Order: sequence, then C-alpha cells, then structure tokens
Amino acid sequence: MADAVNHVRSDYKASKHSGKRPLKNIRYFVIHTAEAPSPTLGAESVGRYFASGAARGSTQYGLDINSTQQYLADAYVAWGAPPLNETGLHVECAGMAKYDRKMWLTTYAKMMKRLGWLIASRTRKYDIPFRILDVEELKRLGTKPTKGGIVTHDTVSKAFGQSTHWDPGKDFPLDVVMAWAAKYRQGVIKGMVSRPVLHIYNKGKWVSRLQNDLRAKGYQVKADGVFGKATETAVKDFQKKHGLKSNGVVGMRTWKALDK
Ligand SMILES: [Zn+2]
Repeated sequence: MADAVNHVRSDYKASKHSGKRPLKNIRYFVIHTAEAPSPTLGAESVGRYFASGAARGSTQYGLDINSTQQYLADAYVAWGAPPLNETGLHVECAGMAKYDRKMWLTTYAKMMKRLGWLIASRTRKYDIPFRILDVEELKRLGTKPTKGGIVTHDTVSKAFGQSTHWDPGKDFPLDVVMAWAAKYRQGVIKGMVSRPVLHIYNKGKWVSRLQNDLRAKGYQVKADGVFGKATETAVKDFQKKHGLKSNGVVGMRTWKALDK
C-alpha cells in the first residue's frame, strides 16, 4: 500500500552526518538517484544502507513510488554532494541514472509526483528559490548561503569538481517533477486541485478528459484515454500557440489555458 503523497516516514536513521546547522542555512534542494533499482522498496534499501556502519554518505530524504523516508532531520548536515552539504537538502530517488525517459515516466511515474510534493513543501518552508539552476548559474552563486535553488548532483559535480557523480542521469524527467511541484505550490485552486500532471505514457479518464479538451480546440486526437505520440504532439502545439513552454507535459498552466 502506498502512503499519501505528503506522508513522510522515518524508519531509518543515517549513521553519517556532520552535525547540526541553523535551518536558515538551507538554500538548495539537491536531487540524486540512488542506483537502487527497486521502484517499490528503493527508499527502504537506501535507508538500510545509510543506517549501516558501512555507509559512506547520507541524505535527508529518500523516495520510491510508494513512500517518502526521512533519514536525517533537516537541521543535520548530510554527506550528499560537497560543497553543498551545509546549504543543501538532499534527496535520493530510487532507480538508476542510466534509465531512459520512458522508464522514469512509466515504472517510476508516481515517484515524480512524490518528489514534486517534497520540492513544493521544502522550497516553501525554507524559502528556497523555485527554479532549477544550471552549472553556470550554480557557479555564479557559489556556496555562500545566499540565494540558492534546485539542482541535481550532476550539476553540483560539474560546477565545483568536488565529486564525480552524474546522477540523476540525463533522462531524469525534471520537467514533469517541476510541473507536479508547481501544482502543489499553488495549493487549492477551485476546480484545479484534483487535476493531475499528465504526460506521455499516462492512461485513464484524465487523459480522455484532456483529449476531449484538445478536440474542442480543433485537434484531431482520438479520445481513447491513452497519452501517446499524437496527443503529445497536439499538446506541444497547443502550448506553443498559447505562449507556454512547449514540452508536452500538461501542468496547471496548460490545464488553465485549455479551460479558456
Ligand atoms: Zn548523488
């Protein structure tokens, strides 16, 4: 049974950390993948490893498709990705950095929703800027506990050269994660709260609803409840025509534009 998306468990305690920090030092949200190839128990296997004496690292959080685990309180400095340990909140996602987009958006799709919620909730709580930083931007900001933002371990490695990890991998769907995060940051908006983020490979009644909305806008897509290539192409075209990011991911802005 999967936990609610906003439920955070704490079944494991990480053995490695660098002690406490003031919460105001938290300026970055750092995304990792764990090389833990279990969509359902990845967060637990990472927890067991971090709790063991053999662990050579740690993070505050771990995720798989049905649970969110907290291994270290936010006030503790994890061994996640130097030099952003003192200023970072680190999260290990189940899965492998080599996975392609299809794998992440099918087998691991529910983890993206969970990660979106965690990003929304922690960026709000600690006033972390809600944007993904690239290598150049992170280099410019440096390690000072000033502005901050959302980064991957790969970006941290490339910006500072203090680690060689390239997780979460080039096909990790940050666009889908950020669409979920934007939805959760908006909170309750009348008539919007239940609408999911949709993307290629999704199926079901919300996809049919989307396809009917697209048909009403003149797109010749089948309303079969299967989000395939043709639906993605129509979404991208619709987004382009409405000044939205043309990525084929249906987040709150795209839903709103379809309502008009
Ligand atoms: Zn990492």
